[in-house]
Amino acid sequence: MQVLVIGSGYVGLVAIVGFAEAGHRVLGVDVDVSKIEQLKKGKSPIYEPGLEDLLSKHLASDAIRFSTEMRDGIATADAAFICVGTPQSEDGSADLQYVLACASEMGSAMSEQRTEDALPLIVVDKSTVPVGTASKVAATIRSRTDRAFEVVSNPEFLREGNAIEDFIYPDRIVIGCDTDFADGVMQALYGPLVKAAKEKLPNGGRWFRMDPQSAELTKYANNAMLALKISFINEIANLCEAVGADVDFVKVGIGADHRIGPFFINPGPGFGGSCFPKDLQALLKTGRENGLPLLSLNATVEANRNQKQVLARKVHLHYNVQPYDPFPLSGKCIAVLGLAFKAHTDDIRETVALELIGHLLQMGADIVVHDFEAIPNARKIFNDKINYSDSPIDACQNADAVIICTEWPQYAKIDLDRLASVMRSATMFDGRNLFRPEDMRAKGWTYHSIGRVSVYP
Ligand code: NAD
Repeated sequence: MQVLVIGSGYVGLVAIVGFAEAGHRVLGVDVDVSKIEQLKKGKSPIYEPGLEDLLSKHLASDAIRFSTEMRDGIATADAAFICVGTPQSEDGSADLQYVLACASEMGSAMSEQRTEDALPLIVVDKSTVPVGTASKVAATIRSRTDRAFEVVSNPEFLREGNAIEDFIYPDRIVIGCDTDFADGVMQALYGPLVKAAKEKLPNGGRWFRMDPQSAELTKYANNAMLALKISFINEIANLCEAVGADVDFVKVGIGADHRIGPFFINPGPGFGGSCFPKDLQALLKTGRENGLPLLSLNATVEANRNQKQVLARKVHLHYNVQPYDPFPLSGKCIAVLGLAFKAHTDDIRETVALELIGHLLQMGADIVVHDFEAIPNARKIFNDKINYSDSPIDACQNADAVIICTEWPQYAKIDLDRLASVMRSATMFDGRNLFRPEDMRAKGWTYHSIGRVSVYP
């Protein structure tokens, strides 16, 4: 089949290589000329495990092509996927300007390029969009063309850092559509991936057909539920610290209840990333518009705002920071390990690390950072205000303290004795609970983590 993917960012690029892997011919489109030039040479502008290998493989066989012009693919496409960004507007709602610009351009291109007897083009909203967007996209396209099409909602559930696996072996496909024809096209497109997922995963490849509104809401409800779980365990972790309990015990205790399950109940320094913060705001806005304040979601957002300061609060307490001192950390060197919002990605949008670094700089600290993939993105933000290091050990050279913000597995395997030997003081603030407090105490560290008592040498 012929697939057109508009927007070649995290979601679009993964869909491009994923559909090529499923045996389809794909044209990837983006308005960013330099991104398209890079992609044509097989270079991925983002880091995602396995992505660049698949990109090279399918460029070589001509299954994937790139262009800045959707017109280059609209005549022959069976389906056109909209994968452009939906950032947060000032009022919290999802900004649909890129999605609707895409729809408008698509309508014009269809008018010029598609013949009257062509089968209806299946236009797929893969961007995360509020309820009712499929109708808006349809109306926008209809205002530009009388060629046949149908708009389908197909939200994306990939996890950054695991995106290729998630796309190629999907646990579920959610399709919001009005006709059997559209469902049939989507089944043909995803067929090889669904088959592979069914063979590989116990509950993989489940197909959920529904109306477009329900599909649109499913994506937001999914992210909101995950965020709620994180905020809940973070608050329980804070309570553990206050009462002398250990969240590691509490989380396995509650995770063993099959109604709760062991997933997504790891405490941390608050969630960030490109999706949860904006998607939660967009869902709250939808609630307000419908007279429903979504109280649990409000609490989730509030709890996360508080949690994103947990590491800074621990630093304040440790150094006895006083409000009247303008630069209380002047002369202190702090190493920050991990900038990405989670491991195996270079995405630093809305991360805890960015906020924390900004705060520590204001307090006068010198900052050295390390990340396995996100340094180029961090340089664009901090330039020479902070120092960058190629290795975690080098980042901690002469540091007064190290803060772990991202759960890169390599950090958990770090040689703690060597790390202590290069630092001025063996002090760690571990936002990801990578180590056991009793081990850290035995090794002579001062160790602050989340939801467990601090230990001192
Ligand atoms: P992104 O910013 O990485 O990519 C968007 C791309 O669209 C950019 O490359 C941009 O240049 C391009 N673009 C914008 N307007 C265009 C146009 N008119 N024509 C062609 N290209 C255009 O964004 P992303 O992270 O891939 O997210 C895209 C959507 O998918 C968002 O709605 C997001 O919420 C959703 N989503 C993201 C993830 C994720 O993990 N990143 C997961 C699920 C859903």
